[in-house]
Amino acid sequence: MDLNTVNRVIPARSRADLGELGEGAVPLAGGSVLFAEPNPSIHTLIDLQTLGWEPFVISDDGLEVAATATLTQLSTLPDDRGWRAHPLFYQCCTALFGSFKVWNVATVGGNICTALPAGPMTSLFSALDAEALIWRADGSDVRIPVSELVTGNTTTSLNSGDVLRSLHVAARSLGSATAYRKIALSAIGRSGAVVIGRFDPVDESFVLTVSAATVRPEQLRFAGLPTASELRTAIEGIGTWFTDAHGAADWRLAVSVVLGEEIRLELTGAAR
Ligand SMILES: Cc1cc2nc3c(=O)[nH]c(=O)nc-3n(C[C@H](O)[C@H](O)[C@H](O)COP(=O)(O)OP(=O)(O)OC[C@H]3O[C@@H](n4cnc5c(N)ncnc54)[C@H](O)[C@@H]3O)c2cc1C
Repeated sequence: MDLNTVNRVIPARSRADLGELGEGAVPLAGGSVLFAEPNPSIHTLIDLQTLGWEPFVISDDGLEVAATATLTQLSTLPDDRGWRAHPLFYQCCTALFGSFKVWNVATVGGNICTALPAGPMTSLFSALDAEALIWRADGSDVRIPVSELVTGNTTTSLNSGDVLRSLHVAARSLGSATAYRKIALSAIGRSGAVVIGRFDPVDESFVLTVSAATVRPEQLRFAGLPTASELRTAIEGIGTWFTDAHGAADWRLAVSVVLGEEIRLELTGAAR
């Protein structure tokens, strides 16, 4: 769609160029959301792709994923480091039912900043307990958990002019065993629930992340693998289920209980 109120597109070359962000001047990443609907309040787009950020930086600490990495890049990240959590990258990309054309442009950061409940990158990076590096408009940097960055249905804790720079996944998370489940009302429909479990073999802790079924990602933490009834009670205690065209709140709760139990059994097997 043409954004016919836009009269300026700035290809950012350095952080200083982001100083133009503010009322009516927004970051442009892949454009798959920005160009999908009218945005009459926008007059300036500041292109982040021209910053040329490396999509992935791997160190002993873990993995830093640039906000501008595309779903295609993430889904094809080589599996050559022995990360047990590696399958989760591709699995979560498949929760975005766009064609390869969408995957080629849609970015990790654009997905998280759009903050749809069914944002698969929000699901992925929350489940891995990743931290988001935010470049604040005032020039400061802050790191916050991705699960706290998305605050509700299309809302985030970003202020006007802030930019999501990257996501850091700790080596410990990459070494965890993970299990993934997704359900939608139709075969190629938007996710009604995405449920991800992560078992940390070092301290045997377990975290279940429920998303798409709730307005923001919800995380349930246990010191060890829970029993079926402990997990069910915890899932039933979540208070942010919601209803839209992609599923009713009570259905989302019910399927999350079923998927959570499947994940618990799968990771119990992996733990042995
Ligand atoms: C067929 C199709 C299916 C889709 N399915 C899904 C789906 O299942 N779930 C889902 O969540 N989305 C879905 N989308 C929407 C979209 O493709 C994704 O959310 C995509 O990841 C957005 O990324 P982008 O780089 O294109 O964002 P853009 O369109 O460039 O930007 C989106 C928003 O984020 C802001 N932004 C982008 N990057 C940053 C940054 N680094 N820092 C601060 N703000 C930033 C922009 O200013 C804008 O407000 C779908 C789209 C299509 C066309």
